[in-house]
Amino acid sequence: MSAAAAARQILTHLHEVMASRLHAQGKLDRVVEIVGEALDSEVCSIYLLREGMLELFATRGLKQEAVHVTRMALGEGLTGTIAQNVETLNLAEAKAHPDFQYRPETGEEKFHSFAGVPIVYRERAVGALNVQHLDPRRYEDVEIEALQTTAMVLSELIANTGLIDEEEALGLTRASTEPAKMEGLPLVKGLASGVAVYHQPRVTIDQVVAEDVEVERQRVYRAFDRMRDQIDTMAQQAEFGAGGEHEEVLQTYKMFAYDEGWSRRINEAIDSGLTAEAAIERVQQRTRMRMREIDDPLLADRMHDLEDLSNRLLRIVSGQIGTAASKGLPRDTILIAKNLGPAELLEYDRRKLKGVILEEGSLTAHVVIVARAMAVPVLGRVRGLRGMVREGDEVLLDADAGTATARPAQTMLQAFEARFAQTKKRLASYAELRDVEPFTRDGTRIQVMMNAGLRDDISSLNLVGADGIGLFRTEFQFLVSATLPQRERQTRLYRDVMDAAGSKPVVFRTVDIGGDKAVPYLASEYAEQDENPAMGWRALRLAMERKGLLKAQARALLEAAGGRPLNVMFPMVAEPWEFDAAKAVFDEQLDYMRDRKKMLPETIRYGVMLEVPALAEVLDLMIPRISFMSIGTNDLTQFLFAADRANPKLAERYDWLSPAILRFLRRLVRGTQGQPIDLGVCGEMGGRRLEALALLGVGIRRLSITPSSVGPIKELVRQVDLAEIEAAMDEWLVRPPGCLREAIADWAQAKGIDTQ
Ligand code: PEP
Ligand code: MG
Repeated sequence: MSAAAAARQILTHLHEVMASRLHAQGKLDRVVEIVGEALDSEVCSIYLLREGMLELFATRGLKQEAVHVTRMALGEGLTGTIAQNVETLNLAEAKAHPDFQYRPETGEEKFHSFAGVPIVYRERAVGALNVQHLDPRRYEDVEIEALQTTAMVLSELIANTGLIDEEEALGLTRASTEPAKMEGLPLVKGLASGVAVYHQPRVTIDQVVAEDVEVERQRVYRAFDRMRDQIDTMAQQAEFGAGGEHEEVLQTYKMFAYDEGWSRRINEAIDSGLTAEAAIERVQQRTRMRMREIDDPLLADRMHDLEDLSNRLLRIVSGQIGTAASKGLPRDTILIAKNLGPAELLEYDRRKLKGVILEEGSLTAHVVIVARAMAVPVLGRVRGLRGMVREGDEVLLDADAGTATARPAQTMLQAFEARFAQTKKRLASYAELRDVEPFTRDGTRIQVMMNAGLRDDISSLNLVGADGIGLFRTEFQFLVSATLPQRERQTRLYRDVMDAAGSKPVVFRTVDIGGDKAVPYLASEYAEQDENPAMGWRALRLAMERKGLLKAQARALLEAAGGRPLNVMFPMVAEPWEFDAAKAVFDEQLDYMRDRKKMLPETIRYGVMLEVPALAEVLDLMIPRISFMSIGTNDLTQFLFAADRANPKLAERYDWLSPAILRFLRRLVRGTQGQPIDLGVCGEMGGRRLEALALLGVGIRRLSITPSSVGPIKELVRQVDLAEIEAAMDEWLVRPPGCLREAIADWAQAKGIDTQ
């Protein structure tokens, strides 16, 4: 019988066994017979994990007395090596392999050749399927594939019959594999531990053997069509239009998506009797195996692309298209993703989401801002992330140090616990600062307010002792909602926020949608036209022109503030007339309410965000119109440096502590001095101690920052003498040192100011 015919025969028979009424052990006994016979092997054995050991569960050819007696540890002998490394062995002479171990009770001394494949369940090896021959020979590829296919069927059997203890298997294989340490860029500081969950979960394959080959063939054809459509659509979308990294990735995707060889191999696997899902996985396994033998980092990158695409195809064909959020998180979780949108992050249960690790990401990407607001630590820019962490791995995330460890050793866990305790102590010391007013050493009261955007954030206000909410990002409500929030819902939220804030001020920023804050139900209106969404039709531009959006929000805010003060801030104002037009929308609504004798706000203060550099050139025209101005350093920086804040390649290129930014900010401070407006900073920059020190140095006296930074920044403020830092800053900005960041840090250290 040819090897291919043998493979087909195995599947046909396996199909019968799986459908039979035999109990699990009976099925295993049949499987070893079927495989042994088809491959003409004297021996075929199945080992499965039990109580931490690989136990011989069924065999043809070895002594039957050895069944449920022969046991080996992971990593021990050839079988243990297969399971530990999740790798296939194909040896003409088993004894020549350094890991070979002889077990007398099995009577295997007379066999020479050996081939074995891991049985993988939930991405972990929970056993091995081996064949042995009397004569020394290497097995053909198609025989190895037949073994791998059988191993897939066995994993289906395991899933359905509870042959192994699932919890134990996950725990043991985890403990028995090496820890993997990852390094990245701290995007949101903090410590967290939990179980790794992929944002895009791997598809679980429920059925391996096909009922009807033709049906499977059709399913895979349709899936290929849909996948190619998706890739083509991606190509037409703006984010891919501009060349560069996206373009390269896309070209690779296209190449794979239309690769004849790939679809042919999947079809061949279907011909041999597999379901579409199993066929895709089968081909992927083979590619993975081949790639492992080639040590080339460039190829490894391409491999990820193919893996991505293969998963996409699997998701389409199986209909399992939801993210991990839609399935719900099992327990404390560290989320793993290439990248995420802010709306996607907000879909997760905040009580269980403990940390996020991204392959991409940057400090001011909105997903990171949202995570910061949720106090969820984020580590970004981890290369090769998805190759190092598996679903279900225990992960320790130390975003303070910029590292994460998957499958940590016991000693690491203990060290981590100790650091955790230390951090908690530090946090507790910030809590003590709650009622302490932040005066500098020379007696100036600094306003430390907080940024918010979700209903739950409001509770932080009194918890951290902020002076108010300096930026309420109203668009977060739009991001978490499946449809455009109705006016009544908006009113309710704004009212609740004001109720909770009591006498403390709240600055409501009108919707800032667009850019990297994608709102699915509006996306078709802006995403497709904009080649450069950060500079495109977003924020006030969109809110004004999209009929009714700003109008509805104005009414909601005015009604919510009935009888009390209201602060309204417009984002992305570039020219004074934009402010006038936006304010006119509020005036119109006020007139309407006045006519209907509705309760109006006690007072209304209007302000703008300074994010577009052009506005800085017309301060004289802007200031008379407004009561306050808040500098949005996140957007301002991206426009000053012409560097997309969400582009991971630029994430580390420019520094907030650069002469360009600090001179710009100082000029703004000077331009508003003595004028009747409040000036502050509400970008992420203000929440970092060293940056906050620099901001004080250029004359900023009001900060609005992420809640978890309020304590640390208050503590910083109390250590600073304003005259000293201002004098030092003046010198630095006249003759900037080689590295301004270093100079400020050294200066702070010499003064005994803790900027960590
Ligand atoms: C900013 O741009 O600095 C800002 C605070 O607004 P956002 O981050 O929401 O764009
Ligand atoms: Mg902004």
